[in-house]
Amino acid sequence: MTLLTYLQWQQKASELNINGNAYINGEYTQAISGLTFKCINPANGECLAEIARCNKDDVKLAVSIAKQTFESGVWSSQTPVARKKTLQKFAALLQENAQQLALLETLDMGKPISESLNVDIPSAINCVNWYAEAIDKIYDEVAPTPEDQVAFITREAIGVVAAIVPWNFPLLMGSWKFAPALAAGNSVILKPSEKSPLTAIFIAQLAEQAGLPQGVFQVLPGFGHEVGEALALSEDVDCLVFTGSTTVGKRLMEYSGQSNMKRVWVEAGGKSPNIVFADCIDLKKAAEAAAWGCFYNQGEVCVAGTRLLIEESIKAEFMPLLVAACQDIQPGDPLDPATSMGAIVDDHQLNQVLHYIDIGNEQGANIITGGQQSMQQTGGYFLAPTIFDNVDNKMCIAQEEIFGPVMAVISFTDAAQAITIANDSKFGLAAGIWTADLNKSHKVAKALRAGSVWINNYNGGDMTVPFGGFKQSGNARDKSLHALDKYTELKTTLIQLEVE
Ligand code: NAD
Repeated sequence: MTLLTYLQWQQKASELNINGNAYINGEYTQAISGLTFKCINPANGECLAEIARCNKDDVKLAVSIAKQTFESGVWSSQTPVARKKTLQKFAALLQENAQQLALLETLDMGKPISESLNVDIPSAINCVNWYAEAIDKIYDEVAPTPEDQVAFITREAIGVVAAIVPWNFPLLMGSWKFAPALAAGNSVILKPSEKSPLTAIFIAQLAEQAGLPQGVFQVLPGFGHEVGEALALSEDVDCLVFTGSTTVGKRLMEYSGQSNMKRVWVEAGGKSPNIVFADCIDLKKAAEAAAWGCFYNQGEVCVAGTRLLIEESIKAEFMPLLVAACQDIQPGDPLDPATSMGAIVDDHQLNQVLHYIDIGNEQGANIITGGQQSMQQTGGYFLAPTIFDNVDNKMCIAQEEIFGPVMAVISFTDAAQAITIANDSKFGLAAGIWTADLNKSHKVAKALRAGSVWINNYNGGDMTVPFGGFKQSGNARDKSLHALDKYTELKTTLIQLEVE
């Protein structure tokens, strides 16, 4: 792919003709109500497009179509190898449109174009290919029954899957849901965040072009309390997969109980500890990883290492390295390929982050870098990496998910104290450990209540490893073959044999 310059990206952006329609039953369409809402570019506050504001009526229609297509077997009864080929074609079409997708993602939610192009979009394409490739290689089981019985334990597609996703990695989080769900034979309704609907809308036509039968993949843009709630309360959605905040995740579980007990799988928030021990192999490397592990994607990352736990004896040496590493992560125009940090997704989120910064100051922590909005002349929502030192783990900025570029530095004196602090959180999504001591790393990793633990790295792992949290970080796992469990029901078929 040719690499575009800043000017070329700006040119491309100015020529865009953005589609803001819903995609229902194989057609782009307005919301039934005819209502729209504005999609704002967080880099300048300008309106990019009017988006179809779907509500419960659109949900009713899309769900009935999804149910019909599922029951017809037009996709669900295809052989795994046939579904594989279609999804591979889908991935190839995504690849052909990678530049366009990267541009939409960057304009829509403010992340640097180099990251959309080199991380988000290729990772989403890889995810579609991965599940396509996997689906015709999975075998079912035969149980160890008595001699006069044969029992098959099989997995079959669950039916209508609704996927409600957030705005921080819009297409990538979407792909982690729709790729395994489609591969398993389900009909899928994707509901992107109202803050970042553009790539979800764009890919719908590619899915159909790839050969996914009409109605198997639909996209409903709109607000959470309108489209999301209606999907969650639907009697005909069989499985609801969600990535987003813990608050909304809990609500979805209630909606399931109030309706048809649909399976609800939640990937929610985090406040992940990144623990640097005094015997860390390379302090500079750990400092750089700590900075990127917290501030990547403007800090809008569920697994961001927002609590830096540092062993007291190396703190004086470590802190200047950490602050220096932040110099490489400074806000700039997201369309500039040299930019390493983009804009916060919208003014609401920016104000929320600034509010937490005020609370940190009020509760007695000290800012050692950042802390203020920048680049205001652009009309956009920019904020540099902000580090609070002298944080107590009981403080609000150490307990609540801020979801912006704010790090809380907490010191400890030994491994036992580090573990206690790390686990003192309602969340349990991820954790990092930096040490040269193999024994210690294993013991600490085992003691941490987190879904992913990274030793001497932060946020590593490709599609082969599961991703998800303990405690109030959710109950689901995305990625890897484990993710497929969510999109299938387990069936036992037992045959009684005639014994001679
Ligand atoms: P959010 O919970 O506000 O919204 C997520 C989605 O839910 C959006 O599509 C939204 O429209 C929808 N929604 C909102 N209210 C709803 C309702 N009442 N009923 C149904 N749907 C509703 O989260 P967000 O601000 O978009 O994303 C940030 C959150 O996502 C953070 O908490 C972050 O940690 C989390 N996240 C988690 C993971 C993970 O894998 N664990 C990954 C990325 C983001």
